[in-house]
Amino acid sequence: MSPADPSDLPTRLAGVTDRIARACREAGRERDTVRLLPVSKTHPSALIRELYEAGARRFGESKAQELQAKVADLGDELPGLEWAVIGHLQTNKAKVVAELATEFQALDSAKLGETLQRRLDTADRSLDVLIQVNTSGETSKHGLAAADLPALARELATYDRLRVRGLMTLAAADPDPAVVAGSFTALADLRARLRDDDVPGDWSELSMGMSGDFEAAIAHGSTCVRIGSALFGARDYS
Ligand SMILES: *Cc1c(COP(=O)(O)O)cnc(C)c1O
Repeated sequence: MSPADPSDLPTRLAGVTDRIARACREAGRERDTVRLLPVSKTHPSALIRELYEAGARRFGESKAQELQAKVADLGDELPGLEWAVIGHLQTNKAKVVAELATEFQALDSAKLGETLQRRLDTADRSLDVLIQVNTSGETSKHGLAAADLPALARELATYDRLRVRGLMTLAAADPDPAVVAGSFTALADLRARLRDDDVPGDWSELSMGMSGDFEAAIAHGSTCVRIGSALFGARDYS
């Protein structure tokens, strides 16, 4: 896919939105049970502006520094613009997320939770958080091991600035759809167990599915699909 030309964006948005609607129908789910999170990391502010004009309000970014730059660019210009941080965060960058983000989807340690709580307290803000779970066993991926989830969830419940709303995962990078589906099923099962065990938290959110696998994720209960390249084109990391 070529880097996005802004004029393609409305067409790509309509295409992705249609595919989400179809996947919901096929899964027997209401359309409004799945939200689209456009992932704007590496892409210029001009493309965010374009999608904002098409109605998008919350955007996914991976890195604290890039988030800061985009807030400086767009924050005053686009009222109601919100940010979801979806990438691994080092504790020394927690302040940026505490001050600028509405949502953080990659919480994976008690230490980071504690640091965010402290930074949020100082900023007098709250943050929606999803716990990132490593459902693939791939060591290249961040996220908590499933076995550690209940203990972290119980600890996070003591932090009043964090609103724990669910779980996030990156599916296995595998050409076999059954293996990818295994990641989604695992996340859904973990959530069911947290609910059964009355672990404190909201647990309404299952953030799973990206450009290459979001229809399968919706079939397995995703409530948030994080879509980058299918909207904005290929990323250039150079
Ligand atoms: C980059 C990224 C995405 C978007 O990936 P695409 O394949 O471009 O849709 C989704 N989730 C996370 C955590 C990401 O880092």
